[in-house]
Amino acid sequence: MNKKLKLIWQLYPSYLIIIIVSLLTVSLYLSSFTEDFLLDNIKEDLIIRAVLLENQFIPFLTPLDSKNLDLLCKKAGKTSETRITVILPEGNVAGDSEEDPKIMDNHLNRPEILTALGGDTGSSIRKSETLKILMMYVAIPLCSKNSTLAILRVSLPITSINQTIDKIQSRIMMVGFFIALFASILSFFVSKWISKPIEDMKKGAAKFASGDLAHRLHEPFILEFAGLAELLNKMAFELEERIATVKNQRNEYEAVLSSLSEGVVAINSDEIVLNINQSAIEILKVPRAKVKGNSIQELIRDAEFNKFIKAAAQSDSSKEGDFVIYNLGNRIINCLSASLCNASDERIGTLLVLNDVSKIRNLENIQKDFVANVSHEIRTPLTAIKGFVETLYDMDDESRENKKKFIKIILKHVDRLYFILEDLLTLARIENRDEKNGIFPEEINLKPLIETALQIIQAKAAAKKITIELLANDRIIVKIDKHLIEQALVNLLDNAVKYSEKGSIIQVTALIQGDELLISVQDYGIGIPERHLSRIFERFYRVDKARSRSLGGTGLGLSIVKHIAAVHNGYVTVESDLNHGSKFTIHLLKNLIVRC
Ligand code: ADP
Repeated sequence: MNKKLKLIWQLYPSYLIIIIVSLLTVSLYLSSFTEDFLLDNIKEDLIIRAVLLENQFIPFLTPLDSKNLDLLCKKAGKTSETRITVILPEGNVAGDSEEDPKIMDNHLNRPEILTALGGDTGSSIRKSETLKILMMYVAIPLCSKNSTLAILRVSLPITSINQTIDKIQSRIMMVGFFIALFASILSFFVSKWISKPIEDMKKGAAKFASGDLAHRLHEPFILEFAGLAELLNKMAFELEERIATVKNQRNEYEAVLSSLSEGVVAINSDEIVLNINQSAIEILKVPRAKVKGNSIQELIRDAEFNKFIKAAAQSDSSKEGDFVIYNLGNRIINCLSASLCNASDERIGTLLVLNDVSKIRNLENIQKDFVANVSHEIRTPLTAIKGFVETLYDMDDESRENKKKFIKIILKHVDRLYFILEDLLTLARIENRDEKNGIFPEEINLKPLIETALQIIQAKAAAKKITIELLANDRIIVKIDKHLIEQALVNLLDNAVKYSEKGSIIQVTALIQGDELLISVQDYGIGIPERHLSRIFERFYRVDKARSRSLGGTGLGLSIVKHIAAVHNGYVTVESDLNHGSKFTIHLLKNLIVRC
């Protein structure tokens, strides 16, 4: 991976390199320019000196006067602080300001001499073989009548030039160093100045990335960066808008999902719960924290249900089924499945819609049982009536006594049918009471109400020589539906009389206990076996069917009592001791008592 550098460390070294290279180039150029300039100046100077001296030397060449020529060289060389040499066309030195010409070598191989022999001004720079120092030589031909008599060469040591150039170079380097230092400090700040808006934008972008989309970058004064900051701000704004839209949609979707009374569970192809609504949590009775990310199999442990889920996962069409779930207390859960697809319409799991249909199914069962029970209850007397009517129809000459006997039996069954219908209608009326057609509570003294019920049952009790005792405060004023409570009491008293032996006692009490007003009917009759106690309030449930029927019971009396208590927001309880008697108690809320 490439090592990443901060922008400043990318910009700053490049500036530095550019500055150093520029300075070096400038310094080299200046050095070479200065050297050339100085050498040119010296050359010009040497040419002028040579031209000025030219005429002084010619007389010593025609004819050649070596001695004086050498003396002139030495004298002129001294005055002009220049080395002066006169070289004959064959290369021999005729005079030299510094050396004895006799010991000097032939100069014909010197480049400046060769050029001058060609008639031009020759020049060259090299180390003098005689003086062993770097010299500049300029040579001009000394001519007379178009013939070259000799070459006049003037030369100067140029070591001083090198020193001057060195000085100039070191000055340039020093100034260059300071310029470089200043430029590098400047470029450091310039780099910082350039990278600062980028750093700011980086911080702003980090804020966007961390979710702070309301943050805005301030626009730097560098045009390109300002454009970038503007675009980033626009992007953040649009993102914020889109996220807000997505959030709103999600909230709406969550609101819809959580307001559904049906449980909704989304699972993926591995049967892991992706999402679940509140109703599903309530139906499955599991803590929300335990649900997401767990398998649906762990939440609903039922082999049939698991088979259903597997089948639903493989099917594109919707499936439905009812399941009795053991780990949910044998509740009946109705499940409807649908494919769960992503935005590209690819299947990603299954959507399950759960409904706790225990109550509905129970009601359906109760209804079915009820219809079966009613049919059964009606069929018995109807069969008897039909049988006796047919018998009556067929017999012509039977005695009036016999006919009366049959008609009496028919009447008994008709009465039974009538009682069943009466009780069914009473039940239906109580059950169908709603706010519009509710109960009709009125303030009434409880004791006289109980006495009315006692009077209704009195004749039946008297026939069995049963004494009914009443223990009730005559100042209890309650707000109740007097007809319904009277009906409930009559039913309880009727049962107490029916299921008590001749000469027995029945005690009726009304008392306030805690938050309740209790109205009890206690008998000392046959009692009820414990296993039947939980069911005797069901419609048509009888402990002993034959006995109940023979006593004219419909099996609906206690059911009616239960419903009457319920519409008063109360309930009924039973305590019974087999062969020793039973005690039925209607529990009403104390707040029904107006005065006491
Ligand atoms: P029924 O018309 O048969 O009396 P109920 O609904 O009033 O119907 O009572 C249901 C059953 O409860 C009765 O058949 C009877 O077996 C039992 N039962 C009700 N009251 C008494 C009681 N006081 N003593 C003994 N058994 C009773």
